[in-house]
Amino acid sequence: MKTILLNPGPVTLSTQVRDALLGPDLCHREPEFAALQNKIRRQLVAVYDADPAQWAAVLLTGSGTAAVEAMLISLVPRSGHLLVIENGVYGERMTRIATNYGIAHTRLSHDWLAKIDAGKVAQTLRDNPAITHVAVVHHETTCGRLNELSALADACAAHGIGILLDGVSSFAAEDIPFGHSALTAVAATANKCLHGVPGTSFVVARRAALECDSTLRGVYLDLTSYYVNQERSGTPFTQSVQTFYALSAALDELAAEGGWRTRRASYRQRLGRIRNALRALGIDGLLPEEESSCVLHGFNLPTGTTYAELHDALKARGFVIYAGQSKLAEQIFRISMMGDITEADLNRLETALRDILA
Ligand SMILES: *Cc1c(COP(=O)(O)O)cnc(C)c1O
Repeated sequence: MKTILLNPGPVTLSTQVRDALLGPDLCHREPEFAALQNKIRRQLVAVYDADPAQWAAVLLTGSGTAAVEAMLISLVPRSGHLLVIENGVYGERMTRIATNYGIAHTRLSHDWLAKIDAGKVAQTLRDNPAITHVAVVHHETTCGRLNELSALADACAAHGIGILLDGVSSFAAEDIPFGHSALTAVAATANKCLHGVPGTSFVVARRAALECDSTLRGVYLDLTSYYVNQERSGTPFTQSVQTFYALSAALDELAAEGGWRTRRASYRQRLGRIRNALRALGIDGLLPEEESSCVLHGFNLPTGTTYAELHDALKARGFVIYAGQSKLAEQIFRISMMGDITEADLNRLETALRDILA
């Protein structure tokens, strides 16, 4: 029996992506690697039809957090000031990054279950003319909330402020406003909605931001040096060649399926089935449907069932779900829609949920 991962990355791989890992050995200083890297960089920019004259993808070896950290430390200039918007674990992680690197910043905290208060953001931007960049999470995986970006982006544009977006759990499945002038960069990873293998992450950023090298923080996570090297088909450090193969195959698969919109439709279809099955068992979603991403849903644990009991019973039937984080650990469980999941898998999941919870 194949185990299906319903945690928010890494995901269940398709055969095509898994087989790609067995490609030929490559030296990262050879033209074959350069061609692979160039292809992936082009395909990442093309996922949202961003203009390649203005946008570039920078590839890193590391998990999603490496890309977020690289984005923040490389794109906020020494003279800049960052506003970090928090409404979950990943927003709070960006504050930790800013704190540890000594990046001048202001936090705007919300409760984990709350929407971003766009009025408060606009007020904070008016009150703090020093702010040059806003860091925000698109899909806050903590609760499954898809943060609304349009009002926020308009407020940023009005002040000439750039948005640094943690799109780690939304890239390739939710709408990312690459056409908005305030969007400066998006950090993401191979092994969430792109269905690749963990080990490669990336930042898609405006070339103008990447070319403004005034940060001088970090060495391994200095995006500018990756950008300069990758523009010349090189790399400053050894990359994870095999996970590049897998990402390349995953991007081909995404394009063949019809792109991010098709992926969103398929996640929504999976989510609808799982939500209906759980609702029939008396289990509600944590957030209203219209505020949730298509990628992951939080559900309230039924009274009398602990997370560990539900997790272990599902795992014995071939499904791995995910716990809530810290204060939500006792209250919720999370199910992610990412990866190579078939109708047959969903049928089996519905049966398993009924067997365990009815
Ligand atoms: C998964 C995730 C990350 C990064 O996690 P890694 O374990 O470093 O890959 C960052 N932000 C969000 C919103 C995420 O969901």
